[in-house]
Amino acid sequence: MSQSEQYERARSDTDGDWHSRPLEDVYADLQTSRDGLDPEEARARLEREGPNEIEASEGTSPLRILLEQYTSALIWVLIVAAIVMAGVGHLIDAGVIAGIVVFITLFGFLQDYRAEQSIQSLKEMSTTYALVSRGGEKREIDATKLVPGDVIFVESGDIVPADARIVEESNLSVDEAALTGESVGVSKGVGDVARETSLAERQNMLYKDTVVERGSGTAVVVETGPASEIGQIATALEEAEDRDTPFQAEMDSLGKLIAVGVVGIVSIIAITELVIGDTAPLQVFLTAVGIAVSAVPEGLPAVVTLSLALGARRMAEKNALVRRLPIVEALGSVDVICTDKTGTLTEEEMTVQRIVTNRETYEVTGTGYDTDGEFLRDGDPVDEDRVTEVLRCGMLCNNVDVGTRERDEADDEDAAVDVGAEERTYLGDPTEIALFVAAQKAGFDHDELDEAYPRIGEVDFTSARKRMTTVHETPDGGTVAYMKGAPETVLERCNRELVDGEVVELTDERRRELEAQTESFGEDALRVMGFAYRPEVPDSQTENPDENLEEELVFVGLQGMLDPPRPEVPDALAGCLDAGIDVVMITGDNAVTARAVGKEVGLQSARVITGPELEKMSDEKLAEVVEDVDIFARTSPEHKTRILQTLQEKGHTVAMTGDGVNDAPAVKNADVGVAMGIRGTDVTEQASDIVLLDDNFATIRDAVRGGRRIFDNVRKFVNYLLSGNGGEVTMIFTGTLAGLGLVITPIQVLWINVVTDGIPALTMGVDPAADDIMEREPRPPDEGVITERIVTSIVGIALFMTVCLLPLFTLNFYGELIPGYDVTGALLGWSPGYDVGRELAQTMVFTGFVVFEIVRIQAIRFRYGLGIFSNRWLVLAVGVAITLQLLVLYTSTGQLLFDVEPLAFVHWTQIGVAAIVFALLMAVFVKVQDRYFDRY
Ligand code: ADP
Ligand code: MG
Repeated sequence: MSQSEQYERARSDTDGDWHSRPLEDVYADLQTSRDGLDPEEARARLEREGPNEIEASEGTSPLRILLEQYTSALIWVLIVAAIVMAGVGHLIDAGVIAGIVVFITLFGFLQDYRAEQSIQSLKEMSTTYALVSRGGEKREIDATKLVPGDVIFVESGDIVPADARIVEESNLSVDEAALTGESVGVSKGVGDVARETSLAERQNMLYKDTVVERGSGTAVVVETGPASEIGQIATALEEAEDRDTPFQAEMDSLGKLIAVGVVGIVSIIAITELVIGDTAPLQVFLTAVGIAVSAVPEGLPAVVTLSLALGARRMAEKNALVRRLPIVEALGSVDVICTDKTGTLTEEEMTVQRIVTNRETYEVTGTGYDTDGEFLRDGDPVDEDRVTEVLRCGMLCNNVDVGTRERDEADDEDAAVDVGAEERTYLGDPTEIALFVAAQKAGFDHDELDEAYPRIGEVDFTSARKRMTTVHETPDGGTVAYMKGAPETVLERCNRELVDGEVVELTDERRRELEAQTESFGEDALRVMGFAYRPEVPDSQTENPDENLEEELVFVGLQGMLDPPRPEVPDALAGCLDAGIDVVMITGDNAVTARAVGKEVGLQSARVITGPELEKMSDEKLAEVVEDVDIFARTSPEHKTRILQTLQEKGHTVAMTGDGVNDAPAVKNADVGVAMGIRGTDVTEQASDIVLLDDNFATIRDAVRGGRRIFDNVRKFVNYLLSGNGGEVTMIFTGTLAGLGLVITPIQVLWINVVTDGIPALTMGVDPAADDIMEREPRPPDEGVITERIVTSIVGIALFMTVCLLPLFTLNFYGELIPGYDVTGALLGWSPGYDVGRELAQTMVFTGFVVFEIVRIQAIRFRYGLGIFSNRWLVLAVGVAITLQLLVLYTSTGQLLFDVEPLAFVHWTQIGVAAIVFALLMAVFVKVQDRYFDRY
């Protein structure tokens, strides 16, 4: 029987008792081993089992999106209107309204569908990776490609990618709240447990979507995707994503407010018309519908969602993956960015450049991850023996692996297991990679070293501890522990020192010398680590060691590594300062190094506070100084939370980056939580709002810029849509009060709102950024879309439109009727009692509104320094609107459907003059606004 056949047979009679079978049986049933599957077999299984994902977020189905269009009250008002019209025999009007209903729903559908697709594609971009062993080699693969039989490695901060039986573990503890609801760490082990053991107590199992809190482990995957425990209960990490964005909430309440106002206005108009006018009740009804439709910005929420979604997509293309859409709004008001140093301000690639050991200092040559390099003393090459001990320690007390990384692979399924196409790389923490490479320069081979000194235990590195220790067997049958970490935390645990092969006492004087040396490394912007070992490890501390192991160590030396600043950071940082955003570096590294790096990237570093100083500081004192501090050094993750809270209490909107497990709380509580896509842990990513796909600080600046731009655009089209609606209402209202009857027909109003206004509004959602977008101060967080300036714009535009369009109406209404036209009479509302000129006059107003759109668009965008041609979609939309209007005016169908008369040259001249007057009024108005409002 072939491997695959055996596997299939074993799979067909599993009954979820993976925890109670002997480990050998698990391997046998899954036809796998400690080395994992070979890539071919993995591919076959992937085909058979399907991807390792729980299908829950398939998104809304198109049909559902279409049906949702009919949940709007407006649509039903229109449908009723169409039925009434049909009922009284106005079949043409009924048909037009029906057509418009179809248009609105299709248009709304397309918008929502586009938005949904963008949101889905964003979700798909956030891939989780899993470290597996395939064909005996470690590989980092897309976690959805895991199959039963895969051997996986997990460590603290990981989200367990599939259900798996533990093979090996060290201090492993898992938070299984996702599955059991109990948010306490569960200690894991390797022994069998009884068959009836409940899920929460199966200590030899790991379950998909639970979180590794501490330690590390190796496990063999037993169930994936829907077959996993979490997949079966199908709760699939329900993301609280569907809550409305603040924008949408604001738009919703605005909509309600307007609706109430509209009912009032409509009642006044209706009563006026019925009492003093001579309009037929049916016309009054239609007018009411028309105004309701014109004034209620029903389309607004959809446009807002779409522009958020499209904006977020664009940000993702620039490496800022938005995980929660509402955050886009907060981004625009960020005024403090708290950023990590290592990897965010600096490059990922570190190189050991200097070593102190045997009381001497050595330079190391070679750059990056190239393993060629020499050890120099005063410029002359020295024998590697001089530095082997400290390098050995750096390679053994190290979790880096050499393997393959399958990132960015083509979407084609086969690529995932195509070994030939991949490159072997270092997998792990850049700091540790640097130490690994340095040891390779001295000829150390990892596999050989690992065989000679097999690791039997580990006390994990955490940012709070700032050190880690590993326990190894030695070739001569003994044990040894190796420690590395921040120099002071290592020295604190040492009482002896290794000098030229001899262990001597570590005197206070030597400690001071070493401290001084650490400081001088720091001044050269080098990140320094200290190394030590413990010769005899007590038996109680070999297998599952704890901090008690870290005593009485022998100090070996220091390694200083260069972590060059990313070239784009100084610019990005200066850009943030220009934009009124304060940048604060929070690092675990020491103050001297932090300051040196800060200087290189352009951070003021007028004041540096270290973690220990912070701990001694009262909350009041911290609040007093926090705004002046640019660098916090030697911090632990809790400090981040404290700094964050203090800044937030002072009213700042804070973006906070994080990578490690313990950063998750600070990232979660920040106004904008930023996780690192490459370096970061799964947990921090889950807690974040935005993931930097390239870990780069410059991307945060771009994201803020993107957020500001989207906000601007929303504000622009809100202004545009509301002022258009406002103009129509004012116009109709004034006409009615002046006794002119209907100055525009309800159907024409519908056409304008839905078609000729609606399309350009949408394209304003993709307007480019204003020139000064990163030169203005951040938007105060409590400032919504609608500001005083926007309100005056809406009112102003509405009034000016009425002032300019009313003459067009009266001129043609009366002008057609009486050659010696009486302006005074017209303005006083003298009505001749019949409608000879009405159709032409209405056509003028109708067309006037459409032509005025261009002026309005420019007036609104003027403030942002945008010319009409800066957005080709907008040009296209205006072109489409005008073409459609011409079709309405000059085709017989258009004339029939919309009750218009074809306009002659003289009419166009009138409209042109009115548009120019309107433009001039707007120009003056914008200038006046500029004087009174310093904000947008
Ligand atoms: P940062 O990366 O900003 O320096 P961390 O909290 O990651 O902050 O690290 C804090 C300190 O712990 C570092 O300055 C270094 O001295 C030490 N350190 C970092 N990584 C390791 C590691 N893998 N093992 C031991 N010590 C480490
Ligand atoms: Mg770090």
